[in-house]
Amino acid sequence: MQTCDLAPAYIKALSPYQPGKPIGDLARELGIAEGKIIKLASNENPLGASPRALAAIAGADLSRYPDGNGFELKSALAKRYALETSQIVLGNGSGDVLELVTLAFLAPGLKAVFSEHAFAVYPLATQARGALGVVVKARDFGHDLDAMREAIDDKTRVVFVANPNNPTGTLLQASAIKSFIGSVPLEVIVILDEAYNEYLAPEQQAPSASWIASHPNLVVTRTFSKAYGLAGLRVGYGLTSAGVADMMNRVRQPFNVSGIAQAAAVAALDDYEFVKRSFELNRAGMLQLTQAFKKLGRAYIPSAGNFVSVHVGDAPAVNAKLLQQGVIVRAIGIYNLPQHLRVSVGLPEENERFLTALRESL
Ligand SMILES: *Cc1c(COP(=O)(O)O)cnc(C)c1O
Repeated sequence: MQTCDLAPAYIKALSPYQPGKPIGDLARELGIAEGKIIKLASNENPLGASPRALAAIAGADLSRYPDGNGFELKSALAKRYALETSQIVLGNGSGDVLELVTLAFLAPGLKAVFSEHAFAVYPLATQARGALGVVVKARDFGHDLDAMREAIDDKTRVVFVANPNNPTGTLLQASAIKSFIGSVPLEVIVILDEAYNEYLAPEQQAPSASWIASHPNLVVTRTFSKAYGLAGLRVGYGLTSAGVADMMNRVRQPFNVSGIAQAAAVAALDDYEFVKRSFELNRAGMLQLTQAFKKLGRAYIPSAGNFVSVHVGDAPAVNAKLLQQGVIVRAIGIYNLPQHLRVSVGLPEENERFLTALRESL
């Protein structure tokens, strides 16, 4: 017996999350300068970080533990969403918040339901608890909410809904989500993952926080990693009923969000100008990419996020050729989309470089 065999079978069966390839890795492999490489693989903000956030962290005191209760950030969020601070859970990225739900509500013998092609963290966080992940077949690459409702049984404690979904970018109507939540038993936590909410036009955004009052089993998650440009700082949050938040707070690390992350998030939250610029750049870049895909005769999945998945045939081969040209995107075979590549919307010149490399690679 080896020491590693001591891990439970469900841990040994896990495959770690595969992140986008770091620029440094490819630079070393190709023996070229990092500046020659573009990365459109992790849905990061090509404009960088919110300038207000950058200003807020200058001169931060790194010697003190952060406020483990996140008073200022929670107060700002409570005001924004007309909730109590007791209804907010902060996380080291919203991925942390997703995991806190599974820590608090899943255990061996229990189940979580999610869609085919949905975010990879859902099955991972479920399996890490020894719970069973139930995958529901997608409809037109998106969530089939009726089938997801049908998949819920008396062992189900969590259902994940990503809106828009990553990596497909599919968007559900607010009314459809609302009736889904209303149809789910109160014994099941509904996680509504809105990591890309800021990339939606106002009329596409669901008033999800306002649903919590009548649906205490709803957890809405948001992040500062995407439109606010703070992926490197790791800060996100969950909005829910005070009772659910209390359970989640019992299982989190006491200082799971750093002081600079909290300070940056408070400042970024009011940086409407930066979010607007990010939104507009994304709109234009999405058009640039999808019009080029049309010209190339390549099908793509219409996306409401800051990324788009395009059908390229032998995606691993095309991906390898793109890497040779210093362009990092994401092959999404692990999402059961072996013929697609997901590309994040970049700056206009980055999108163009990707398109040039793609034409070379097809
Ligand atoms: C990027 C992303 C997140 C957010 O991750 P963080 O941990 O906040 O950086 C959450 N859900 C989905 C679907 C995502 O694509």
